[in-house]
Amino acid sequence: MTARVDHGISSGTFSLDGQTFDVDNNIWVVGDDSECIVIDAPHDVADILGVVGDRKVKAIVCTHAHDDHVRVAPALREEVVAPIMLHPDDKVLWELTHENYLWDLDLADGLSIDVAGTTLQVLHTPGHAPGAVCLYAPDLGCVFTGDTLFNGGPGATGRSYSDADLIKESIRARLFALPDDTVVHTGHGDDTTIGAEKAALG
Ligand SMILES: [Zn+2]
Repeated sequence: MTARVDHGISSGTFSLDGQTFDVDNNIWVVGDDSECIVIDAPHDVADILGVVGDRKVKAIVCTHAHDDHVRVAPALREEVVAPIMLHPDDKVLWELTHENYLWDLDLADGLSIDVAGTTLQVLHTPGHAPGAVCLYAPDLGCVFTGDTLFNGGPGATGRSYSDADLIKESIRARLFALPDDTVVHTGHGDDTTIGAEKAALG
């Protein structure tokens, strides 16, 4: 069975620094007909399970710990019995949303996550958040960038725990090192490619 990427959208809010915004988050699920991993756990468990179906979930991998990406991670963990994975540099953000729960496994740069005969490689790309990661799937020719790189440029860095210089350094050093035709699956909004964003950012 060949691994594939499935997609859904979940709507809710993002809050930080005392402000709240309405947001639509992408749900990305990588797997085959029998097993999968879920990338980010926004807003609504039912939205995520709608993409997962009856497959076994091997892990819930969080690209970073802003509340719109991790809000239902503990509830989803209860439902599917899979570990939550997060880079430990996002502990401060995680604790703003989940005071009474921790994640289960630490993400680290260079870690590989195997699912359905394919591999996701963890790239630590701090800037939008200190523990922001991207997940590169070389076999599938795509990278899941969370809020680090969008269609149209780098993710936001105007709020606490973000760093505008660092996000550009992460994108240039880690994401722009990937092949130009790599499809970028973002945390919000449309897909893009590494080549298109490289041309735009210069
Ligand atoms: Zn974010």
